[in-house]
Amino acid sequence: MRILVTGGAGFIGSHLIDRLMAEGHDVICLDNFYTGHKRNVLKWLGNPYFELIRHDITEPIRLEVDQIYHLACPASPVHYQYNPVKTIKTNVMGTLHMLGLAKRVKARFLLASTSEVYGDPEVHPQSEDYRGNVNTIGIRSCYDEGKRVAETLAFDYHRQNNVEIRVARIFNTYGPRMLENDGRVVSNFVVQSLRGQPLTVYGDGSQTRSFCYVSDLVDGLMRLMNGEHTGPINLGNPGEYTILELAQAVQKMVNPDAEIIFKTLPQDDPRRRRPDITKAQTLLNWQPTVPLQEGLKLTVEDFQNRIASAEEYRLA
Ligand code: NAD
Ligand code: UDP
Repeated sequence: MRILVTGGAGFIGSHLIDRLMAEGHDVICLDNFYTGHKRNVLKWLGNPYFELIRHDITEPIRLEVDQIYHLACPASPVHYQYNPVKTIKTNVMGTLHMLGLAKRVKARFLLASTSEVYGDPEVHPQSEDYRGNVNTIGIRSCYDEGKRVAETLAFDYHRQNNVEIRVARIFNTYGPRMLENDGRVVSNFVVQSLRGQPLTVYGDGSQTRSFCYVSDLVDGLMRLMNGEHTGPINLGNPGEYTILELAQAVQKMVNPDAEIIFKTLPQDDPRRRRPDITKAQTLLNWQPTVPLQEGLKLTVEDFQNRIASAEEYRLA
C-alpha cells in the first residue's frame, strides 16, 4: 500500500514510519519540520519506497495514496503554545486539507487525536463517551479545541462524503527521539537528570498522567487503521503516576544526586488523567506491553547517546 504519514518526521510519526517500511509499504512522509527532524527518518532517505516532502499542511497538496495517518501537529504544550494561531490552523485547515485529499483519492484516514479533548476531566478514568471539560479560552485550547474540531471534521467527512475514518485518542506517549527541548515531562526529567540539573516538578507534583511507550502506541495506531472500528478509541497505558512519582523514578534510575525542585503549575494543567482502554482491548485486541521502568530505561539510553555524541561534536 502507499501510505501517507503527516508529521512523519516527528517523534511518533517516525516510529510509525519505521514499522510501515519494515512491513514493505510505500511511505510518503510529509512534514514542515517545525518540531520534527530529518534525522528521525534519515535511515530511509534514498530508499526507493520512501519519499520525504517538506510541506506545511495548512496549504493543500495533491497526492495519490491508500491510507493517511494524520499526525502533523506540535504535541508539546511549549511548542503548541508558541504560535497558538498556527496550532489552530494546523488542526483545522490542515485536517480539512488531509480529509479533502482522503475524499478525492478514497483513502482511509486516521486522525491522531488526543486525551486533551477531555480537558481537565471530571470523570476518572476517561472513557470515550465522556464529553470533556475544556476551557475554550485558555492557553491550551488552541490544541484541545483544535483537536476537537479535527474530530468533528473527520466525522462530518465520514457522514457526508463516506470517507473511511479512524480516530485515535492518544494519551501521554514517550520514548526515544523526543526532542531534548521538547518540554514534555518525561524528556525534561530525563535530560535534566542526565545533565545533573534539578528536576522541575510543576505545582506540588500531585497531578497524574499515564505514560505509554511509543512502540505500544504505534502498534495500537496500526491495529486501529487496519481494523473495522471508526473510534474514537483511547490508546494509552492505564498505569497512572503522580508527576512527583515520575520525578523520583527518573532520579533513582539516572542520577540519585539530582535535586527535585518545584515550580509554578501552568494554567489549566489537567489534575489527573488515565485512559479507560476497554474499547481498545475488546475491539482491537490491544493493550500496552512495555512497563514504565523498561520504557524509561530505553528512553534514557537514547538521550544518553545523543547527549554524548553532541558533546563529542562540540569537543572535536
Ligand atoms: P511531534 O511534535 O514530535 O510531531 C509532530 C510533527 O508534525 C512534527 O514532525 C512537526 O514538524 C509536524 N508538523 C507540525 N505542524 C505541521 C504543519 N503545519 N505541517 C506539516 N507538518 C507539521 O509530536 P508527536 O508527539 O510525535 O505527536 C504526533 C501526533 O500525535 C500529534 O498530532 C499529537 O497531537 C498526537 N498526540 C501525541 C501525544 C504524545 O504524547 N506524544 C499525545 C496525544 C496526541
Ligand atoms: N511537568 C512538570 N515538569 C516539567 C514538565 C511538565 O512537572 O518539566 C508536568 C506538567 O505540568 C503536567 C505533566 O507534567 O502536569 C505532564 O506535562 P506534559 O507537558 O508532558 O504533558 P500534558 O500536560 O500535555 O499531559
